[in-house]
Amino acid sequence: MIEVKDVKKKKTNDNSVFGNSSFVEHEQIMFCYDKATGLKVIIAIHDTTLGPALGGTRMWNYQNEAEALTDVLRLSRGMTYKAAISGLGLGGGKAVIIGDSKKDKTPEMFRRYGQFIESLNGRYITAEDVGTSTLDMVSVRETTKNVTGLPENMGGGGDPSPVTAYGVFMGMKAATMECWGSDSLAGKKIAIQGVGHVGENLVRLATEEGAKVYITDINQEHLEDISKKYGAEIVGLDKIYDLASDIYAPCALGATLNTANIKKLKCSVIAGAANNQMADESIHGKMVSDKGILYAPDFLINAGGLINVYSELKGYDRAEALEQAKKIYSTTLEIFKMAKEENITPGEAARKIAELRIAAAKTVGA
Ligand code: NAD
Repeated sequence: MIEVKDVKKKKTNDNSVFGNSSFVEHEQIMFCYDKATGLKVIIAIHDTTLGPALGGTRMWNYQNEAEALTDVLRLSRGMTYKAAISGLGLGGGKAVIIGDSKKDKTPEMFRRYGQFIESLNGRYITAEDVGTSTLDMVSVRETTKNVTGLPENMGGGGDPSPVTAYGVFMGMKAATMECWGSDSLAGKKIAIQGVGHVGENLVRLATEEGAKVYITDINQEHLEDISKKYGAEIVGLDKIYDLASDIYAPCALGATLNTANIKKLKCSVIAGAANNQMADESIHGKMVSDKGILYAPDFLINAGGLINVYSELKGYDRAEALEQAKKIYSTTLEIFKMAKEENITPGEAARKIAELRIAAAKTVGA
């Protein structure tokens, strides 16, 4: 899957489970198979200290099982950090279905998948992700209650992307404040990579505030539509890294912050929606900082979607979800402050806070 293609090869056996370099103390991993529907899914529960593991289900045509396993492990761990830094009563988990979402999906497959989720007795709660939709979650709901991301007419919050984009926008404004002493995006040059569900909403919010927005996407037709709709300027797929922009917003794939791309970057701030933006957190986090670029941690500023589906568990309230996503602004500023004081990267600071929250909850529970 895209998130792992640039990840540095480590000297561990990624074909094994416990030996996988992304295993990092997962609590439970469940491999499920159903011959009748062709369902092959891996559910990874990273940590349930703060609550049930909530994370979406990705459907992707992985080249092999090792790739699927590495992807689900990296993503589920990210969910633990995302929930903890956002102050939510949730743990981290994620699931991947191996298959082509355009050809292999059926409602029966998702109903069967719901039965597997149900067997976990609430330890894992799912939602949609890349390759799955609100409609698929409706099928899952037929066999388990442990699903979010449902349509509004079923008590759900619908598409979480606008709330995700709003949170990214608030994180971007906090980084702008830190970098330039004012949080206004007016006149700032913002390069947005990927103008899908989240990217388009971010283009809208940034242009409304008077930013000069540059966009790229592999879907040329959609790219041109967005350009016309918001007056954003189109740039080539690889040109996005070389652009003399103020802010780079990765909103398509993970692992775009690799050695080659970081060398090209000319921006002052990185703030985007994609999960696992750094190909290798320790190497590339430091490389970005050494270049003098301010990095707003992905799992902190893209938590709006998780905040939105979390709201469903308590009785969905859009206004409350947006209010909670707004707090990403102040949390991001706190993370920058801590990073400066402790001479660590913002990513390290955010992970440290998340780990402290989990450790504190473990002590209380002990
Ligand atoms: P999406 O699939 O709607 O949009 C992704 C866009 O990126 C598409 O338009 C696609 O054509 C484009 N793209 C793919 N490969 C590209 C490439 N190489 N270069 C340029 N563009 C490319 O997905 P989304 O829901 O908007 O999510 C975007 C990112 O944010 C993903 O990494 C996702 O995991 C993350 N994220 C999304 C949410 C959410 O609420 N949707 C929440 C948290 C994180």
